Amino acid sequence: MDALDVIMNKDKIIPYFQPIISADTQLVIGYEALARIEVENGVKSLGWFFKDHSIPEEYRQEIDEHICHLAIKKLLDFDTNTMLFINVDMNELLANNGEHLIKIFKSYESRGLLLSNVVIEFAEQDFKGNLSSLKHLLTYIQSLGIQIAIDDVGKTGSNLDQIALLRPNIVKVDLEFLEGDSFPQLYRDVLYSLSLLTRKIGATLMFEGIGSFNQLNYAWRNGGHYYQGFYLSRPKSEFQAVDFCKNSLKKEFHHFIHYERKKIEAQITLTEKLSQLIKNSLKKVKSLNSYDDVVMQIAKQLTDISFRVYICDHDGYQQSSNAVKDEHNQWNLEEGSRFKNWSWRPYFLENIVRMNYERKGILSDLYTDIEKDEMIRTYSFPIDDQLFLFVDIPYSYLFEQDGLM
Ligand code: CA
Repeated sequence: MDALDVIMNKDKIIPYFQPIISADTQLVIGYEALARIEVENGVKSLGWFFKDHSIPEEYRQEIDEHICHLAIKKLLDFDTNTMLFINVDMNELLANNGEHLIKIFKSYESRGLLLSNVVIEFAEQDFKGNLSSLKHLLTYIQSLGIQIAIDDVGKTGSNLDQIALLRPNIVKVDLEFLEGDSFPQLYRDVLYSLSLLTRKIGATLMFEGIGSFNQLNYAWRNGGHYYQGFYLSRPKSEFQAVDFCKNSLKKEFHHFIHYERKKIEAQITLTEKLSQLIKNSLKKVKSLNSYDDVVMQIAKQLTDISFRVYICDHDGYQQSSNAVKDEHNQWNLEEGSRFKNWSWRPYFLENIVRMNYERKGILSDLYTDIEKDEMIRTYSFPIDDQLFLFVDIPYSYLFEQDGLM
C-alpha cells in the first residue's frame, strides 16, 4: 500500500481509539484517536503515512483532517464528557496558524464538543520551525481552552528546557521502546528529571506504550498520572466501559504499594542499624581531637556495610581524611579530600540542618558515586551540632539486602 492507495481509499479510513486511564480514579478519562485503514485481510495502521515526509503535505493534511472529523463525530455520539487526544503535525499546523484545525473543533461546539476536552498531541522532535512561533501558537491554542500534549518524550534525548518553555498541559512519555523489562539507570534518572519538571510547570505526566506489568509499575513509581498502552487495552474501533480496568488496576496498585512499603521499611531498618552501630562505637571514642582516629575507629566497626567513612563540619568542610576499605577489608586513610567543601552537593545543607534539628541520621537515595562509578547510598549521622559523620554504602551491600535498591 502506498500513499496514493490511502488517498484513493479515503472511505476505508476509520479512527481507532486507545483508552487513557487516570491513576487517581482508575477510570478512562479519554481516548487517543489513531488512523486505521480497512484492507482485504483486516485493518492496518496508518502511522507510517503521517511519518513519511516524502508524501505531499496536502495529502497528509487531508487525511489528518478527515480522521479528526470522524473521531469527533464518533466521540460525540458516545459521550461528550470524554477527552479526545488528536495527533497533529505541528509544522502543518503552524503554516496556517492552527486555523484549519481550530475551525474543525469549533464547528462541533454546537453539537456538544467542549474545547477543554480536546488535546492536541505533537512530537517536539518532529518540529522543524521556529520555537518562538511555536510557543506563540501553543499559547493561542491554549487560550481557547484546548490542551496541548507533547508526544514521544524520552524517545530521543528530549530537551527539558524546550518542554519548560512550551508549557504543555500534558507530557507523554513512551515506555514502549524500552526492550523487555530492563530499565537502564540513566533512563530512570532522565524520567525522574521529567517528573520533577512536569510538576514544576504544572503539567500532567502521562505514560504511553505500557506493555507489561513492570512498565505499569514503572509509570506508577515515576509519578505518572495518565496511563495508556497494550497492557491496559489495545486501540479498538469502539469505546469501552469507563471502569473497564478499575478492578485490575486496583489490584496492581495494591501490589505496588505493598512492595514499596517493604522497601521503605528496609531503609528504616538499615538506618536504625547504622545509628546503633555508630552510637556504640562513638561511646568508645575517647576524644574528638584527631578526626582521623575517630573515622578509623568507627570505620572498623562498619567493615561489613561501608567502603568509605569521613567527617565534615556544619559548613560542609571535610575535617578528616577518608577512611577507605581496600580489597583485603583493611581500612586506610586517604588525605586527598581533607578540607574540601561539600556544601554545594544536592541535599547536603538540607541534610545537615535536618540532622541538627532531628538529632538523628539520614539515609540518602541511590546515586552514582563518581569515583567508584556505581550506585551507592550514604548514611549521615550527627556526632554533635558541629560534626557530621558520612558513611558510604557500596552497591554490593545494598544489592544483597532486600528492598534497598
Ligand atoms: Ca500520539
